[in-house]
Amino acid sequence: MAFPVTRLRRLRRTAELRNLVAETRLTPDAFVYPLFVCPGEGVRKEVRSMPGVFNLSVDEAVKEAREVHSLGVASLILFGLPDGKDEVATGAWAQDGIVQQATRAIKREIPGLVLMGDVCLCEYMSHGHCGIVKASHAPQSLGAAARDAITAVAVRDGDEREKAIEKLAGIASRASEASYEIVNDASLELLARTSVSLAKAGIDIIAPSDMMDGRVGAIRHALDEAGYTHTPILSYAAKFASGFYGPFREAADSAPQFGDRRSYQMDGANIREAMREIEEDIEEGADMIMVKPAMPYLDVIAAARERFDLPLAAYQVSGEYAMIEAAARNGWIERERVMMESLLSIRRAGASIILTYYAKDAARILS
Ligand SMILES: [Zn+2]
Repeated sequence: MAFPVTRLRRLRRTAELRNLVAETRLTPDAFVYPLFVCPGEGVRKEVRSMPGVFNLSVDEAVKEAREVHSLGVASLILFGLPDGKDEVATGAWAQDGIVQQATRAIKREIPGLVLMGDVCLCEYMSHGHCGIVKASHAPQSLGAAARDAITAVAVRDGDEREKAIEKLAGIASRASEASYEIVNDASLELLARTSVSLAKAGIDIIAPSDMMDGRVGAIRHALDEAGYTHTPILSYAAKFASGFYGPFREAADSAPQFGDRRSYQMDGANIREAMREIEEDIEEGADMIMVKPAMPYLDVIAAARERFDLPLAAYQVSGEYAMIEAAARNGWIERERVMMESLLSIRRAGASIILTYYAKDAARILS
């Protein structure tokens, strides 16, 4: 039946009608609020590139958790800023680690709040990478090419000299890429140790975000061995190497000191590979899966929803938040409207759980 019998505008006439026929709904109990815990007491330090987001000491984190819970938000995910960093990420798995301390304190005060523990090593490693770093040697051909370029810089002048210097810079960056490796299998042991330590502290859901191959299986095995057979794993299954993580690195002080994360996080060009990543994690024992970031990867969320039956989460990351905040501060967009629209788009794409810095603000609007 076509126009004029069919008029789709009939159901858009009033807010009540629109609400009645809404296909997608947001509720605070699907939100997870990220929290950054730091040492000290009474610390509440705003993250420069994420207005409204703070580094909180344990006592302040407890207050924040209470507020989040009272707004009906289901869960918190905890990230830690340790006192010190080293080459084996001691702060990640130590029983008195910062996240372990916060977990015990929050669980004591607000037992009904679901606590997720992000499992990664980058915040605790002196080099800022998500796994163990091993130095390796630059290939010989690079050495020969560098020697030629240096000779050219020394003997030429003008344009040719410029070109030789440029070439040398290229060689240097290739050499630094070739000179280290993030070791996969050795990192699994530290990730497993971290997961057990978090479960022991009271974390309800273990959420590995490192993107090492085989981590879900290693973590499941370690949790079971330690008697935590009931602790579920939410794997950051399809986590893309993304420029949208920029502000988070300031919030969690986790920027790599050299190189980048492209050798372990996913290439943004690949959706079929994302499905393989998710499949692998499910086979290894993931109970829930995640796509991260959210808005630039809505197609990946939709494809994952179509293909897999596990609870599906999406992380609306720091850069997504910062962009909305910056534009709103400039008066270029309506903050609340864009905030709710962005969350709705993630929900509509198929994510049933949304990790978002807007959890509190959106919950307030929805209540
Ligand atoms: Zn990491």
